[in-house]
Amino acid sequence: MKYLAEYRDPTLARALVDRIRRTATRRWTLMEVCGGQTHTIVKQGINEVLSEAVEMIHGPGCPVCVTPLEQIDRALHLAARPDVIFTSFGDMLRVPGSECDLFQVKSRGGNVRIVYSPLDAVELARQNPDREVVFFAVGFETTAPANAMAVWRARELGVENFSVLVSHVTVPPAIEAILEAPDNRVRGFLAAGHVCTVMGWTEYEPLAQRYRVPIVVTGFEPLDILEGIWMAVQQLEEGRHEVENQYVRSVRRDGNRPAQELVSRVFQVVDRGWRGIGVIPRSGLGLREEFRAFDAERKFELDAIRADEPAECLAGDVLRGRIKPFQCPAFGESCTPESPLGAPMVSSEGACAAYFRFGRLSRAAAGG
Ligand code: SF4
Repeated sequence: MKYLAEYRDPTLARALVDRIRRTATRRWTLMEVCGGQTHTIVKQGINEVLSEAVEMIHGPGCPVCVTPLEQIDRALHLAARPDVIFTSFGDMLRVPGSECDLFQVKSRGGNVRIVYSPLDAVELARQNPDREVVFFAVGFETTAPANAMAVWRARELGVENFSVLVSHVTVPPAIEAILEAPDNRVRGFLAAGHVCTVMGWTEYEPLAQRYRVPIVVTGFEPLDILEGIWMAVQQLEEGRHEVENQYVRSVRRDGNRPAQELVSRVFQVVDRGWRGIGVIPRSGLGLREEFRAFDAERKFELDAIRADEPAECLAGDVLRGRIKPFQCPAFGESCTPESPLGAPMVSSEGACAAYFRFGRLSRAAAGG
């Protein structure tokens, strides 16, 4: 296959659906980890068409969604400072904090800028030596190499007015937390292809063995998802629990070693809070001590900023797959993309946004 449309071929999709239905002798519960996969599944109605063979539970793999409220509040605090140029990818700007979002801070005069690479933020710092430039370093292992590169480059160039507000999280501890939960129903996982492009899949092998769950590294197009589901169902039916790779056009077992080395030189593993879930031990990345000068939390002494998640938003239950978005009482009522209560309704990878956008508004419609 060379072209994107081929990964959306309806004839091949129907053949894979038939194959999954024929393979499954019972209804299996699978979780797709990544929010990008969730959007494909909900948009294409994959959960609906497979509802008798497979229940798809949507996982916590939306980086914008899992960034805790207090980290958003810290970003808002920095963005409002007159001496700061606050930079971020565009998807963070509409995420609600306790009182407002970054767009609102910008409309009140805050110097908030969208960048397409953290290296652009380093360049901005060089061009504005009289300002502090902060980059909002959010994301899973996928974005960590570029963010590590920005910090590395800033040190190399002696750019002292650059720092990063870090909220990096990692996938394997989240999978483990889901599997350890007493009410866990997930029997197999679709792992995120882009994360594994960086990290490979060796860290998933102990999880698959210990918890006896198949984990299939999967891409993001409809045929990727359907093939990944079929591979997971096949393993479950055969009593296997291995890590398999559906996303062969991008992922190798060891991943991208130079990227991993750069990440481990700049970042270290830390405990990290996840929105609505709480702290998961060793589930995040924080700057190593030698890069502390680039840590915005230390530079601006942000520790005192704390926030409680709004009780009305059930993002934690959505992110752990305990409920479907439409089961949140606020869904489509007090919480819409125009007036969101939580990040999952804003993010382009958020499950609530997917259900709202594609009109999956009931259990029957969603194959739940
Ligand atoms: S629908 Fe809105 S309030 Fe409910 S969980 Fe999703 S983001 Fe939170």
